[in-house]
Amino acid sequence: MPILPITVCGDKILRKKAAKVSKVDNKIIKLIADMFETMHNANGIGLAANQVGANKQIFVIDISAAEGYEDIKPLVLINPKIISKSEETSVYEEGCLSIPDQRADVVRPAKIVIEYQDTDLKSQTIEADDLLARVMQHEYDHLQGVLFTDLVDEETKKKLKKPLNRIKNRKVEVAYPISSSADYQIL
Ligand code: ZN
Repeated sequence: MPILPITVCGDKILRKKAAKVSKVDNKIIKLIADMFETMHNANGIGLAANQVGANKQIFVIDISAAEGYEDIKPLVLINPKIISKSEETSVYEEGCLSIPDQRADVVRPAKIVIEYQDTDLKSQTIEADDLLARVMQHEYDHLQGVLFTDLVDEETKKKLKKPLNRIKNRKVEVAYPISSSADYQIL
């Protein structure tokens, strides 16, 4: 079952701080492979484990389909931690596979340094800017239980209220499989 259903706003697991990964066993390796397949199937550029119902501090990124980023290899970040953020900020219209068809401007630090573990649980550090910094912060937030719609201005929050309720109630057409209920969890 390689393509997994994607959890949507309103699902409980998206509001939990994800649990640390202490061992990369076969289950985790399979989860990561399925996350890539699920993300690519949905034309996403980043996906956090709780977006497929797994309560684990893992996210995957593949921005190589974006213009100018063809050389950026797909990345798996386990137990990530943002260790520094630039004072300089940027604005970008974000979307999210867990909030289908909704987009809004989000202000975030333009550059970050992120520390994480790879699939051998070896510590790695990446200095990211532009789109990579943007996607990493969005996915990192997922693992803290934060959605991009929490970070928009009050006026946008008001506008999003109805569409978010429709998504919570699964009254939307989505081009990829979504979770069956607000309690959906696989791991
Ligand atoms: Zn998202």
